[in-house]
Amino acid sequence: MTNQETTKDVGVRVALVTGGRRGIGRGIAYSLAASGFDIAIADLAFDDDAKETIDTVRARGRRAEFFACDVANIDRHAAVLDSVTTALGPLDCLVNNAGISVERRGDLLETTAESFDRLMRVNLRGPFFLTQRVAAAFVADPRPERYRSIINISSANAFAASINRGEYCLSKIAVTMATWLFATRLGEAGIGVFEIRPGIIRTGMTAVAEADYDRRIREGLTPMPRWGTPEDIGRAAAALASGAFAFSTGDVIHIDGGLHIQRL
Ligand code: NDP
Repeated sequence: MTNQETTKDVGVRVALVTGGRRGIGRGIAYSLAASGFDIAIADLAFDDDAKETIDTVRARGRRAEFFACDVANIDRHAAVLDSVTTALGPLDCLVNNAGISVERRGDLLETTAESFDRLMRVNLRGPFFLTQRVAAAFVADPRPERYRSIINISSANAFAASINRGEYCLSKIAVTMATWLFATRLGEAGIGVFEIRPGIIRTGMTAVAEADYDRRIREGLTPMPRWGTPEDIGRAAAALASGAFAFSTGDVIHIDGGLHIQRL
């Protein structure tokens, strides 16, 4: 069997979702679980949100475990991945979802080095080295019978310039190149690497700008006039991880109600 025959039952499949205890990561965890994946959540702290995510996945009949992990702390990645593998088995899918926005939106001319470094550490450097480690493990352990993938969650800010959070935009457009780099390196091994670009999704991250986005969506910001949901992103991630696009790699999937379409 080859990894193009992705509908065959290969037993338990395991996905690691960073930042999966709430928001978009939770939506991804639920959709992956519905597609037959056991779920490892790697997030900053185990709290009521994390418990709800874990309990819900388990109630739906899949295994779920929580792993305390700051993705920016790359020295901890090896230990976290070891714990995941010991608890659930080898990974089939990594979803680099954990991410942060700026602490304060403000003038590009006043961006601080501290904020810039913070965004890069969490949104780019951490996921880059986590991906590197997972990719190395995939390559060292060929499993042609399984479809394996890495999914990066970037942002509409990979193409849309928001001058009140330039360092966020920079961190996200770099995720596009990271996706292309790993897609190229891992193509020979049949491992798909994808970027999902969410538009405006209702989560804790966007709560600060809720009224503003409500108004702009009403005024036509997106061809599809609604907020996106974590489930919208989850469904896309599950399709990618399940191998529905097994002869694609390096692609960007916009889940944004058409926000990316330039209009005249
Ligand atoms: P949330 O803030 O709602 O959730 C993010 C989760 O990631 C939280 O549980 C958060 O923990 C966790 N997290 C933050 N930093 C780290 C870290 N260093 N290590 C591990 N976990 C961490 O955000 P969203 O769900 O909205 O965003 C998820 C991803 O989607 C992000 O990469 C974001 O940039 C991207 N995105 C979101 C959009 C939106 O409209 N919401 C649009 C485009 C992209 P804690 O709560 O403690 O901070």
